[in-house]
Amino acid sequence: MSPRTDHYPREFPAQQQEPPGLTDAMDPRPDHGEDSYRGTGRLTGMRALITGGDSGIGRAIAIAYAREGADVAISYLPEEHPDGEATAALVSDAGRRVVTVPGDLTDRRTCLDVAERALSELDGVNILVNNAGFQMARSQSIEEVSAEQLDRVVGTNFTALFWLTQALVPHLSAGDCIINNSSIQAYDPSGSLLDYAATKSAINNFTVNLAAELGPRGVRVNAVAPGPIWTPLQPATQPVAKVEKFGQDTPFGRAGQPVEVAPAFVFLASPTEASYVSGTILGVTGGKPVF
Ligand code: NAD
Ligand code: MG
Repeated sequence: MSPRTDHYPREFPAQQQEPPGLTDAMDPRPDHGEDSYRGTGRLTGMRALITGGDSGIGRAIAIAYAREGADVAISYLPEEHPDGEATAALVSDAGRRVVTVPGDLTDRRTCLDVAERALSELDGVNILVNNAGFQMARSQSIEEVSAEQLDRVVGTNFTALFWLTQALVPHLSAGDCIINNSSIQAYDPSGSLLDYAATKSAINNFTVNLAAELGPRGVRVNAVAPGPIWTPLQPATQPVAKVEKFGQDTPFGRAGQPVEVAPAFVFLASPTEASYVSGTILGVTGGKPVF
């Protein structure tokens, strides 16, 4: 088995969607581990809140966490209802409790409601995965970034993450953890993602700083920095020409699939395997450096 060539296409058919994008409209459909992920009880009895858990990397995390024995709450935008329901069914199929919490996280009130519903309906939260994110890569220069775009990018990627974390920290105990979804863009930023890349750098800074604050309480804080991963975000926010060649600029010469990112989130969530891991950012990048 070669990480360069096995299983996954090098080129993608031309395609475009409107944000936030839906899984069923993608060609090929992403692999979230539906047919392959095998759990070994590493998160037995834990309860996780995954923002953006409907699709892409978030769906792969939801499947993996459920098969590792965790109950799962997923949040997503109301218009992503079909994807949210599909992920919820996969968690239920694994025999775990699932809570779906639609809502726009750029509204602080929604962040507080999502935190509250996850806490009450799962009887607590042990793992917060701040995975929701937005980008718009169709602009080419700083002059093309509108006020609305900047508010949405910063509001989704950083401000919502801050409010949700602030709401849940008082409820986390020793052994619990927070995992943020960063990006290769924090290290190797693309000109067309000026605003988005900066939010991912801010997430890294927030991750190490909060890890220092919560370490004395035994709460671990880490991040995963994915490279190019085949999810609805890409055809919904990248120009067609970029979608077709997506991921070819990595040393492996291809995009990754969500199923290849989820194990990093399982490792970081595991209170035994990652018992001494906090304040780190784990790259899953197809060979690109994260330092
Ligand atoms: P995705 O579109 O499947 O997931 C992103 C999710 O964010 C959406 O499903 C949506 O539910 C949620 N979201 C966006 N705006 C929201 C809002 N205002 N309120 C509530 N939820 C909102 O795409 P993905 O690629 O799996 O993205 C997941 C995370 O991975 C993001 O943080 C993204 O920045 C990060 N990431 C992705 C890649 C990649 O190449 N796909 C690379 C590095 C990092
Ligand atoms: Mg989605």
